[in-house]
Amino acid sequence: MIYLDANATTPVDPAVLEAMLPFLREHYANPSASYAAGRRVRRAIEQSRAQVAALLNARPAEITFTSGGTESINAVHASVRALWPEKPELIITGTEHAAVMESARRWQAQGGKVTTAPVHPDGRVDLDALHALVRPGVTALVSIMWANNETGVLAPMHEIVTLAHAAGALVHTDAVQAAGKIHLDVRTTPVDFLSLSGHKMHAPKGIGTLFISQRVRFAPLLVGGGQESERRGGTENVPGIIALGKAAELAGQHLADGNKARLKCMRDRFEHLIHAALPEMRIHGCPTHRLHTTSSFCLPEMDAAGMLILLDQAGIACSAGSACHTGALHASHVLEAMGVSARDAACTLRFSFNRFNTKADAEAAAHAVIESAHKMREAQGCELAVISH
Ligand code: PLP
Repeated sequence: MIYLDANATTPVDPAVLEAMLPFLREHYANPSASYAAGRRVRRAIEQSRAQVAALLNARPAEITFTSGGTESINAVHASVRALWPEKPELIITGTEHAAVMESARRWQAQGGKVTTAPVHPDGRVDLDALHALVRPGVTALVSIMWANNETGVLAPMHEIVTLAHAAGALVHTDAVQAAGKIHLDVRTTPVDFLSLSGHKMHAPKGIGTLFISQRVRFAPLLVGGGQESERRGGTENVPGIIALGKAAELAGQHLADGNKARLKCMRDRFEHLIHAALPEMRIHGCPTHRLHTTSSFCLPEMDAAGMLILLDQAGIACSAGSACHTGALHASHVLEAMGVSARDAACTLRFSFNRFNTKADAEAAAHAVIESAHKMREAQGCELAVISH
């Protein structure tokens, strides 16, 4: 299998697995225990917290471990709604992940107001429209993703923070797809909350982080034993936390050592090969503000469901849209918000690379796409011939 679905999940890095295993085998003590074994686990958790904080240029005290991106997002929305009831509004965009969309639906169901800021056809939020929408005394929170999971489009986060703060609104960013891929710095881009997820950055599933700026108050979603400085009740997922710390450290190293350029080169070669053979290919998303690891494109008249079957047979693991929605291929709300027609959306494939992919993977996948498209065309030709007879 050539795995090109990193935006759905990533393989656990062997070094991450190595780091977490002792916490499944020997170091199983409860970190709240007062004896030496418990204190040792506590120290390891705090080291992980420092590693995750370093990736974001945050302070360790600003990092809360959660069960993943979805929980972090839900926790932020619930906290802001509870602490600032006098400000009813949450602003999102139409291209957010289902976790934000559904949490926003709950915000509205509980009496709040949700406003959807428009995006340009290239997937970037319309800053002028957003500026007009954010209202002092009304908007409590602006919740906009840093990098889109379907298209890889990057948000102008700095500008978003500046205009939201000027109107007294808080800013949350779903950075699940951005973390470990681009440089994130919560000091130079002073978001108030940031969510990230372990399994999108070579740690296991079921562990994530919520960055909560020291400037803001927070009310926990889960209450219980007072863990995580009273910000998230429940005995800590110690192996997951250790894994995430190691994954964050490795992500920082990979960001620093030129791996980004290698991955971009690979993704660009992949797109170039396909475009050369199938010039009708249309790449979704802003060409200059797009994750270097994501390729989402439409091959007009090439039904994605059929292409996925052929690609699967060729040993290529990729996606037709957001993985969370696979099983039932319905139109992507992200592409719809960008003004892509339902027909083109149904002919869209997403390939997402991770640091274990090679140039050979990219080239083999491109050839498989081209071959699958030819097969589809042949099949369509046969169908047409049958109809005309
Ligand atoms: N946000 C984005 C952009 C995602 O891609 C995902 C996962 O697909 C999530 C949030 C949810 O994260 P998790 O799977 O850790 O709950």
